[in-house]
Amino acid sequence: MALSSILQDLSQLTAEGRGQAKKTQHIGVGADQLAQVGPWLAEAQPGKSHLLVCDAHTKVAAADALLGHLRSAGLTASVHVLQPRPGEDHVMCADEEIAALREHLAPTPHVNAIAVGAGSVNDIVKMATAKLDRPYQCVATAASMNGYTSAIAAVLSRGVKRTLPAQQAQAVFADVDVLRKAPAYLNLAGFGDLLSKPYSNADWRLSAFVRGVPYEERPAKLLDTAFDALLDAASSVGKAEADGIELLAATIILSGFTMAIAGTSAPASGGEHLVSHYWDMEQHCHDLPLRGLHGTQVGIATLMSAMLFERLVTLEQDDIDPEAAATRIRDASYLDGLAQRHRGLTPAVVDEVRAQIEAKQKTGPALRDELAAVKAQWPEIRATLKDTLMPSARMRDALAAAQAPSKPSALDVGREHAVRTLTVCREIRSRYVAMDLIADLGKLPTWAAEVVDAVEA
Ligand SMILES: [Zn+2]
Repeated sequence: MALSSILQDLSQLTAEGRGQAKKTQHIGVGADQLAQVGPWLAEAQPGKSHLLVCDAHTKVAAADALLGHLRSAGLTASVHVLQPRPGEDHVMCADEEIAALREHLAPTPHVNAIAVGAGSVNDIVKMATAKLDRPYQCVATAASMNGYTSAIAAVLSRGVKRTLPAQQAQAVFADVDVLRKAPAYLNLAGFGDLLSKPYSNADWRLSAFVRGVPYEERPAKLLDTAFDALLDAASSVGKAEADGIELLAATIILSGFTMAIAGTSAPASGGEHLVSHYWDMEQHCHDLPLRGLHGTQVGIATLMSAMLFERLVTLEQDDIDPEAAATRIRDASYLDGLAQRHRGLTPAVVDEVRAQIEAKQKTGPALRDELAAVKAQWPEIRATLKDTLMPSARMRDALAAAQAPSKPSALDVGREHAVRTLTVCREIRSRYVAMDLIADLGKLPTWAAEVVDAVEA
């Protein structure tokens, strides 16, 4: 039931994008999708020669088989394998990798690039082709993240994890048989990434109240049915059953669309994402492999974020004290100790962080005025947040049913480190989130410690 309604929404969304550059025109989710790629390309990209961009893992998972399909459909095609950096297992999507692929593609405008992979492979091809003003298509090898149909990419740029403007894949093919064979932790990561939806949406709605950020209802509404169905299907996803994986794939594709519709990652990326980005940045600063996949980290962070929100909505109007906040954060001295707070980052990256936090942190009278407005509207803000949120217990149950990690310690993040991450990660992005309000109210360090203790208990 839910699946057919999601597929219907997807076909409506592709119809809206048809004929527009940088928009998704076709979605194929289900069995035997690898065989559908050739006929679609023959019609949509006639006369092109096709380059299947993959990594060593996705070459085996799908690119080799796809190459056979394309050649037997009479198309010209070859494979280009992206390499990880020395000492890394996985390809990274950073400035250097994007530039290398762009330079590889630039001299051959008749070559059509197809990303055969998931997170990093998709993002590298997405960015490189967007910079060349060419479309690309994606053959998904795992339901591990929601970037296939988003118009942005997650890039490690100058040491900071940033979401940069790019383009949607022109077509996405998600072959359920390929996805089911992906390592379990990849599909579980996609599941974890999607869990953030109620909380990122709550952050977005809060930022509309506090900072006047434009908010749209359609993205969250589109995901409502899919999200509930997915929570119910958690154990099926965990067992990589066809039904669960197909629902997961359709939902991540829909989730990508919600970001494209909104023109921002806000519907799918709030404070919980900053936790994951933060851990990635720390690892990168020390040339260490990532602790976990994006979605795995987001799933863990979502549970903590849910608990922070639960505390926030218990506040009464009288608990908001604008004067006290303005006295505590009176001027730019809040930047003192920035390097100490971010001691896991290198000085150059701390400078980037400084620019992000300076762009959003209010101080003194400006902070007092902002919080006075929040206080005045608090009954309405609180009711809106309550309406948007889901109980943290539901997230904990869903993670458990899917057998996905749910604690920072599962990623080797100790208590002090996890508490510090929750306390400072808001500083790495200029977008306003609930953690900012909680910090301005002086409650973030205490609540962060409580929340970490609760999830680890
Ligand atoms: Zn995400």
